[in-house]
Amino acid sequence: MAFQDKSVMCVDCGFAFIFSAADQEYYSSRGYLIDPKRCTSCKEARQTQPKKHIPSLKREVSTITCVRCGREASVPAHSHTASAIYCNDCCVETGSPVTRDPGQEVG
Ligand SMILES: [Zn+2]
Ligand SMILES: [Zn+2]
Repeated sequence: MAFQDKSVMCVDCGFAFIFSAADQEYYSSRGYLIDPKRCTSCKEARQTQPKKHIPSLKREVSTITCVRCGREASVPAHSHTASAIYCNDCCVETGSPVTRDPGQEVG
């Protein structure tokens, strides 16, 4: 089966491009039964441009001074409150705030 150059219209730019006999042969050998829909430049443009824009997760970090050990530490900006600013180490040590009634403590 002999292939012949034929012109195909690019769906992207709308211009006709030559689907050459060599390309047709190549497509046929690869099992493609349909003609290419895009010209070479549009195909390349699609391949080079990123598929999806993935917003980078930018973590808001603020520097605090730990009220427990006094060291400076970087913590996620939303995690600290005005009343309790702990560094990561002290957060691990203290865990969840424990409510203790000092009046009941003896000794
Ligand atoms: Zn095109
Ligand atoms: Zn600390």
